[in-house]
Amino acid sequence: MNNAQLNELKQRFVANGAASPATQFADRAENALIWDADGNRIIDFAGGIGVLNIGHRHPKVVEAVKAQLDKVMHTCQTVMPYEGYVKVAEKLSQVTPVRGHAKVMLANSGAEALENAVKIARAATGKNNVICFDGGYHGRTFMTMAMNGKVAPYASDFGTMPGNVFRAPYPVPYHGVSEDEAIRGLKMAIKTDANPRDTAAIVLEPVLGEGGFYPAPASFLKAIREICDEHGMLMIVDEVQSGFGRTGKLFAIEHSGVEPDIITMAKSMADGMPISAVVGTDKVMDASGPNSLGGTYTGNPLSCAATLAVLEVFEEEKILEKSMALGDKLAKRFAQWQSDFDCVDNARNMGAMAALDLVSDKAKHTPDADLAAALCKKAREKGLILLSCGLYGNTIRFLMPVTIEDEILEEGLDIVEAALTELVGS
Ligand code: PLP
Repeated sequence: MNNAQLNELKQRFVANGAASPATQFADRAENALIWDADGNRIIDFAGGIGVLNIGHRHPKVVEAVKAQLDKVMHTCQTVMPYEGYVKVAEKLSQVTPVRGHAKVMLANSGAEALENAVKIARAATGKNNVICFDGGYHGRTFMTMAMNGKVAPYASDFGTMPGNVFRAPYPVPYHGVSEDEAIRGLKMAIKTDANPRDTAAIVLEPVLGEGGFYPAPASFLKAIREICDEHGMLMIVDEVQSGFGRTGKLFAIEHSGVEPDIITMAKSMADGMPISAVVGTDKVMDASGPNSLGGTYTGNPLSCAATLAVLEVFEEEKILEKSMALGDKLAKRFAQWQSDFDCVDNARNMGAMAALDLVSDKAKHTPDADLAAALCKKAREKGLILLSCGLYGNTIRFLMPVTIEDEILEEGLDIVEAALTELVGS
């Protein structure tokens, strides 16, 4: 079927809240390229929204999933365990920087990992509430929507979970929240609302993802570790978007040397197969009762096989070094754009987790969300998938595979530049 026929089906049968506004349907994909149902070639700078750090259909992952298909596709882990689950648990325990010996539970999505992490923290501390941050994003389940600090388009009228979510400021110096102010804001929230006697955990992204790719300073992360220790709260680090090599380390928190109690991960873990994990210190992870974690599909054999293959690819192909090198290339191009275009303001990257802000007035840093939307639209017309995000919707984020070939990278960046020139002049 072609794009037009598929769009007609979408309109008739897919619920509005689930239907993509995009009109090109993916037909096949390879590394940083996708071909749509009409045969158009498209460069993917979104990487399935951070899922494809090692590219679409990495051959080693495809091979591992095919081999697993020939053995066993499904057995509910609680009824009949299988090798892949325990091997993934062993590997993640070895590579995840939590405090002390780590244990693991697997789930299917990022939001599900967060749901389980909070469930575990509640069981381990006997307390209910959590503290989350302005600009944070953790998913679209009831609990994670209540935790999100990024407003439109994720605002929830659905009510909150049992227990309370308290909010604290995230350090975004560029938007007037210094690191010291953020720490003071957190301490104030603890003093006034989020009584530590009732609060199980502080949950944060070490690099704000949907909120605009702002890395938290190491000293802010260290302060949170100390505050958690002082008040008997757990530190939960959400690495669903920043994890699995995007920042040049397997996990972004490693840049700070801070060891949290729990890390959640998903997205690039299995090169597109659905899986997520909660990894935490053994005492914490073992706190909830028997059969309290998991579900029918959690850690399914195909996704486990893919995860093991991804971890091998990381070692064999030096993915972390590639991530740093890609970040450097992007930073150079951003610097050129900053001097060429009045509308390109702050640019930042931690490894290949890279973004820049578009503004209507550089001196005042006035966010221009309309320009960001127009740029993504124009890029798409020219054969490039580009995404915006951010506290003000004016951030352009770059999530192409770190395995992208140089000439495709350049072609994609040239499209961004040409689209910007058409929109604002040079
Ligand atoms: N946490 C973070 C930091 C995310 O960026 C996301 C998704 O973008 C999620 C959680 C939710 O993950 P999922 O969409 O797989 O539920």
